[in-house]
Amino acid sequence: MPIWHLQISGFLGDNVAGNCQVMGKIRDQRNHTRQGWKCVESMGYDIERFVGYVNEGLLCSICRDVLEDPLQAPCEHAFCTACIHGWLVHHSNCPEDRQVIDVSVLRPLYRYMKNDLNRLQLHCKNREYGCEMVCSLESIDRHERECEYSQIPCSNAGCTVQIERRNLDGHLAVCEYRSRECPNGCGYTILSAEDTQHNCVAELRTELELLRSEMICRVEEAKHEMESRLDSQRRHMVQKESVLQNEIEELKNPLPYVRGQFNIVTPSLEELLYCSELILAFQSQMSRVMSDVRSLMAAERQHRQELEQAELEKRELMELLRGLQKDCRLSTAEGSRKTANFRPLARLESAKRKPREVTVI
Ligand SMILES: [Zn+2]
Ligand SMILES: [Zn+2]
Ligand SMILES: [Zn+2]
Ligand SMILES: [Zn+2]
Ligand SMILES: [Zn+2]
Repeated sequence: MPIWHLQISGFLGDNVAGNCQVMGKIRDQRNHTRQGWKCVESMGYDIERFVGYVNEGLLCSICRDVLEDPLQAPCEHAFCTACIHGWLVHHSNCPEDRQVIDVSVLRPLYRYMKNDLNRLQLHCKNREYGCEMVCSLESIDRHERECEYSQIPCSNAGCTVQIERRNLDGHLAVCEYRSRECPNGCGYTILSAEDTQHNCVAELRTELELLRSEMICRVEEAKHEMESRLDSQRRHMVQKESVLQNEIEELKNPLPYVRGQFNIVTPSLEELLYCSELILAFQSQMSRVMSDVRSLMAAERQHRQELEQAELEKRELMELLRGLQKDCRLSTAEGSRKTANFRPLARLESAKRKPREVTVI
């Protein structure tokens, strides 16, 4: 349970809600334990920081300070967001008039109230450190973010010093945690605190040792990886070998069967060979017969030519015969003439002398 809630519930029971005296006590208590309040969440602007009169309606009903990040209940009572959210964790009513409310009914402040609130003038929270800035509530946050009197942490890593912004540069110049590069060129960044102890050789030796051990680690890792890869490859090879062995066994098994088949096929092959020899013999015989046929056909062609020749001769002889018969008839009619009797016989002789070719097969 947050500290502020203990404080409120201790003084502000449901029975005494709205009692100004009690509220005053709360504020007193808060002032006494400011650190405790601040560490929880910001709640309300301290009314003492404001210049001039502040309307009662712009005060938070819970912390009685000027509203910070305000919300309004339907009963028109206004509260800092942090105050009312904290209140509603353990209550379900308005702390002023006890009307039933919850977080869902809370609304932003009326615009005119918001404007009034924003116009209020107040001192910077760093007034106690010397800042004399007075500005409107609307712009106080922006000022305080950049206020030269704000306490900020040193920007050097490891330094816990909190310092006013305006003094930061001065502090950084002497901060024990400021760093600079080694002037001897070893490449190290030296913190001011260990300036005198810096030994370039020792630093580099340490670095070297680190690098060496890192290298050894990496080499070991690479070695392990290679070994595991080799191992898996070896396993793979063994598997392959056994698969190949199985295949060889399978190939060996069908040999007897193949041999049996071969024995069956061999006689058939011999028969086939014999048949092919027969076919070859038949073919050579056929070719001989064909050549005989060809020569017979040539002889027949010869005979036909001779026949045609004989036919021609026959026609010539017939003509000759007809000529002779005519001559005979003329000689019989006109009387015998010796010279005329001799001419047909001479023609016959010449016909007999013509060469005749006879082909004998
Ligand atoms: Zn408040
Ligand atoms: Zn109310
Ligand atoms: Zn300031
Ligand atoms: Zn520092
Ligand atoms: Zn060095």
